[in-house]
Amino acid sequence: MRATVIGAGVAGLTTALALAERGVAVEVVDRNVGLGPGSCSWHAGGMLAPWCEMATSEPIVGRLGATSLAWWRERFPGVVAKGTLVVAPARDLAELDRFARRTQHYEWLDEADLASLEPDLAGRFRKGLFFPDEGHLDPRRALAALVERLTALGAAIRFDTELEPEAARGDLVFDCRGLSGRTDMPALRGVRGEMALIRAHSFSLTRPVRLLHPRLPVYLVPRGDGVFMLGATMLESESKGPVSVRSMLDLLGAAFAVHPALGEAEIIEFGADLRPALPDNLPSVERAGRIIRVNGLFRHGFLLAPAIAQIAAGAALDPHLDTELAHANSA
Ligand SMILES: Cc1cc2nc3c(=O)[nH]c(=O)nc-3n(C[C@H](O)[C@H](O)[C@H](O)COP(=O)(O)OP(=O)(O)OC[C@H]3O[C@@H](n4cnc5c(N)ncnc54)[C@H](O)[C@@H]3O)c2cc1C
Repeated sequence: MRATVIGAGVAGLTTALALAERGVAVEVVDRNVGLGPGSCSWHAGGMLAPWCEMATSEPIVGRLGATSLAWWRERFPGVVAKGTLVVAPARDLAELDRFARRTQHYEWLDEADLASLEPDLAGRFRKGLFFPDEGHLDPRRALAALVERLTALGAAIRFDTELEPEAARGDLVFDCRGLSGRTDMPALRGVRGEMALIRAHSFSLTRPVRLLHPRLPVYLVPRGDGVFMLGATMLESESKGPVSVRSMLDLLGAAFAVHPALGEAEIIEFGADLRPALPDNLPSVERAGRIIRVNGLFRHGFLLAPAIAQIAAGAALDPHLDTELAHANSA
């Protein structure tokens, strides 16, 4: 059995790995010259937060996300499993109650608990929610680790190669083109996300911190060496243009609200990309003949791709299932 996977974002690489681990001869192609800012996956925060995400998502995101978290922990030593902290400024404490009502697997923290978990947040927030079972990773290192693992299993990865699914060789073709896949999935839309990487010299965190705000909830994900990913806007816009002044003001203002020491941080990168989303904001696995489309990962690429990849690979290799695969939602 030979399979071609088009797209070396998180969807394509996890699908390729699910196939290679089942003994399929896999070739991954991507039009970019290598892993880098040409894919949406490059810009992700890397939060593996199934229970926090239930605040704005269907319960299936929590279920599949918990499966994916375990998958990452087994395969990628870079997963940091120290949970997630959710805080709100004093005037927005009602947001914290609302968040708690929609989520699971958390503990309430008071000011002293917060300070013992994250000493640099001492005195900043009166209450918080702690999701101890969540984790995070650096998406760029995770993508590189997936490529390395695939190569070790004998899979071929060809960059700088643009391919349309119909033209691909192989018994099975996995279309993991992200938003470019909308030529064959017209319901796909892009949801713009803007982010920044900042480096702080006198402030540290050991786990992602989400700051709730009615208009722009933001998060800081520690990447080590004082670097934080600061994200992210969620705009119903398909512009891939540079980050706007308004978005940067919002993001940087929120970072400053987490701690004024972040006012001294250096901005080392900012970027924007479009999350591939379907109308229900849930991922989808569909089959048309030998082509299987894995898409719609929206704001949950790293959180959900491993679980979706298992569904896609498992069902594609099942000889009894050669019609349209189930939408991941009904899995
Ligand atoms: C700012 C921001 C923050 C985010 N934070 C998180 C987070 O914390 N946690 C999380 O789980 N998710 C997060 N996401 C969402 C996540 O990044 C996406 O869900 C995910 O990257 C989508 O992955 P994908 O593989 O479907 O698409 P992509 O990563 O875009 O990959 C598609 C690949 O296909 C290639 N391609 C396209 N057409 C062709 C062709 N014809 N031939 C060859 N190659 C082709 C492209 O070059 C690209 O490399 C975030 C997104 C953004 C923008």
